[in-house]
Amino acid sequence: MALSFRRSYVDRRVFTALSILALFSLSTTFVTIGAVTKMVSSRQEGLNYSNARTTLGDLLTELNAAESAQRGYLLVEDKTYLEPYNMAIKVIPGDVTTLQAQLAGTPYSTTMSTIYPLVNQKLAELASTITANDTQGHDAAISIVAAADGQSRMSKIRTIITSILDNLNGEVSAARVEVNQYASWARDIGLLALGGTLVLVVGIYFLFDHAIEAERALDQAKDEFVSLASHQLRTPATGIKSILSMLEHGDFGPLTDRQHNVVSKAVRSNARELAIIEELLNVAKADAGRLVLKPVELDLGKLVEQVVGEQQAAYTTKYIALGLHQPSHTVKLLADEEKLYMAITNLVDNARKYTPEGGSVTVTIANHRNHVSIEVADSGIGIDEHELDHIFDRFQRSRMVLAGTIEGTGLGLYLARRIAELHHGTINVDSKKDHGSRFTMILPRRPQS
Ligand code: ADP
Repeated sequence: MALSFRRSYVDRRVFTALSILALFSLSTTFVTIGAVTKMVSSRQEGLNYSNARTTLGDLLTELNAAESAQRGYLLVEDKTYLEPYNMAIKVIPGDVTTLQAQLAGTPYSTTMSTIYPLVNQKLAELASTITANDTQGHDAAISIVAAADGQSRMSKIRTIITSILDNLNGEVSAARVEVNQYASWARDIGLLALGGTLVLVVGIYFLFDHAIEAERALDQAKDEFVSLASHQLRTPATGIKSILSMLEHGDFGPLTDRQHNVVSKAVRSNARELAIIEELLNVAKADAGRLVLKPVELDLGKLVEQVVGEQQAAYTTKYIALGLHQPSHTVKLLADEEKLYMAITNLVDNARKYTPEGGSVTVTIANHRNHVSIEVADSGIGIDEHELDHIFDRFQRSRMVLAGTIEGTGLGLYLARRIAELHHGTINVDSKKDHGSRFTMILPRRPQS
């Protein structure tokens, strides 16, 4: 099994439900954004028309006021009557400019452009009658009023403005209806999104729960199978071991060199088989929480010397130098001797397996205030940076190792770390591809419990 393979507790149904949730959220969000955008633009349009309506109303009122003031002045010739006129002629040009801007680009801008000259003509007519009255007398002014078509011009202006005002009223009401419609759509879609999301989230929760339960049950069944199978395998393998031992020691008669050679090979294979079975049983125990410590006060130096001594022959065969550095004083430790022996053996054995011929391995014991450390450093093949996190997982081996012929189960480091953790300690690794590895086991001198 490659290290990149990670176990997932999520089944296909959960992925489907998550995808539906994502699609649903995306589509409702898009539709809501569309409705809100439309609502905002309708509101803006309504506001524009409403402002134009007000300005247009003001223009008409001011024109009426200017005309009434002119009429009043001509009748009584009192300058105070001209005040509304004077005020109106000041604001009307501003109103016209504002209206041009407010109605630019709307269907009413063309109609409006016919009013502006009429307004100017009307203002010029009013101004000329007032001037005539002041300079040539009342009759001259009245004759201009009678001669000019001011009356019909003003009623033309009124008719056009009134019709545009009616249209603008319609536009403002339509925009209001649109705004309400889009607002209610946005609210309905929002409620739908909320309800749908809730249903999907609850569904996904149950699917997850179900998937995790199913995976756990499968895991447990696998663990039980491994444990049962290993137990069943151990008995015949142990039987074969004693038969092979008797054969090797000549209990059934002397062996020829060739026979002895074959039996030795069988003994080594049988030993390897038993070691794997033992490893599997220990993993099953560790997973079931049945790996219990039997701590004793031990001499760490002696324990490591024993491991190094037992590995020496295999190291010599592979031309790898194996060195041991330890303090001159005894390093005492409260630990489970058998399990610690197993963990250290695994580190020293791995260093040999993953170091090419001619390399070197150094085991260093260090004594600190409250803890001890056992470091195994090799000049071997090293480990890829992205695989470092996974080598302590069950059945995990690096790609490089999987591609080669080095035997292994991917269980040794998992067990070693579990053993260190049971002692309230840790194992760390520092490694670089093609530049060797350094495994450091740190154990408290006296575990708290
Ligand atoms: P095994 O050695 O049986 O495969 P382990 O659990 O002991 O299983 O180690 C897991 C993996 O970690 C190994 O397969 C190998 O890829 C990597 N590994 C362990 N020790 C070393 C080392 N000293 N140098 C390089 N790689 C190592």
